[in-house]
Amino acid sequence: MFSVIIFTLYSPLSNYLKIIIISVSLLIIVILEYSNFKIARSNFNKKNELSNLLKSFDEENKKIKNSFNTFKLAFNNIKEGIMVINKSDNKITDANESFGSIISFPGIVNGRFYWEVIRDVSVLNGIEKVLSLNEPTEIEVSSTLTTQTNHYYKIIPSGSFIIVILEDKTLLKKSERIRADFIANISHELKNPLTAILGFLEILNNEEINESERKKYLQIVYRNVKRLIDLVENLLFLSSIEGGNYISKTSISIKDLINETVELYKNKITEKNIVLIVDISNDLPFIQANEFQLKQVFINLLDNAIKYSSNNDKIIIKVYNERDYVRIDFCDTGVGIPSNEKDRVFERFYKVDKSREKNSNGAGLGLSIVNNILESMNGKIEVQSELGKGSTFSVFIPTNFTQT
Ligand code: ADP
Repeated sequence: MFSVIIFTLYSPLSNYLKIIIISVSLLIIVILEYSNFKIARSNFNKKNELSNLLKSFDEENKKIKNSFNTFKLAFNNIKEGIMVINKSDNKITDANESFGSIISFPGIVNGRFYWEVIRDVSVLNGIEKVLSLNEPTEIEVSSTLTTQTNHYYKIIPSGSFIIVILEDKTLLKKSERIRADFIANISHELKNPLTAILGFLEILNNEEINESERKKYLQIVYRNVKRLIDLVENLLFLSSIEGGNYISKTSISIKDLINETVELYKNKITEKNIVLIVDISNDLPFIQANEFQLKQVFINLLDNAIKYSSNNDKIIIKVYNERDYVRIDFCDTGVGIPSNEKDRVFERFYKVDKSREKNSNGAGLGLSIVNNILESMNGKIEVQSELGKGSTFSVFIPTNFTQT
């Protein structure tokens, strides 16, 4: 168009005609440029719209992803196990992490047939019943697979799926059992001395008895009252440790404390002709702890080692550093503890039946007190034992309680 203008300018046409041609050309140029501008602008607007659309799509996508992740996190962190079974192919479409861990299933649960994962016949029967009923039915089944665990299933139909909710009630049942045992045991421990006291008081009150018999019966009453007081004192001591009351701490030499404890039991050890070996490492740090409580730990463990040993048995006390702890082993060659009762000896009032016959005095509180004291010091106690061969109780006291 510009060449037309230049050509017109230098052409021999009249000025009047030149003006008309140039004006028309310029007009055409303006119109063309304007239409180009409009097209560009609409293209620009379209591009903008598209990028806005993409942006909002991206944001929605992020929101969906976030809520899905939150849902998955919650799903996996619910302490109950949840499993979803597709009714059409009997396969598991989804299961949270708790499900696998409660039943200790090794590997991935999703995508398997439900009977590959659930082995408990009563639960499988429950699922089959819900599948066959074809109507909204909710059933509850307690697993009977093992006696150590207590698993409780709820099976709920939901459209074309079945939802299985699994609760691990093992700990709950265990604490219920401990509570019931505690009440039965404390009643038993109180009843025995009270019955003896009542019986001998009746004899003292009603019957003609001579002076030496009177003294003998009063001694029995005295012993049983003392036993009741010991019992109550031990219970109060236990509850004060459990209550976490502040106790004063001092710098303690474990070597001295062990030697003092051994001194207390010298006579009993000689009476039973027990061979005692005390082996204490020389580089032990001082411990910041309550001396009375720590001594109670050593007394209870040495007392048991002697009580549950026969004449001529052997007891070894070994004290040494082990990683972040000072470790003290009380090792005896006595009656031992059956393996299925080892963990229970730390429960309040728990007594192993076999050894109970040999020992008429213990109330089953000693190890519970030991355990509680050590827990309050961030320490721990472990037991290894073989019935008829002996036991080793190992005490671990953290050295971050120490002062060198
Ligand atoms: P108790 O006062 O009856 O001895 P403990 O709490 O100290 O109570 O111990 C609980 C039970 O653990 C005891 O009744 C006994 O059966 C068993 N026990 C504890 N120490 C030993 C040991 N060294 N050898 C064998 N059995 C033990």
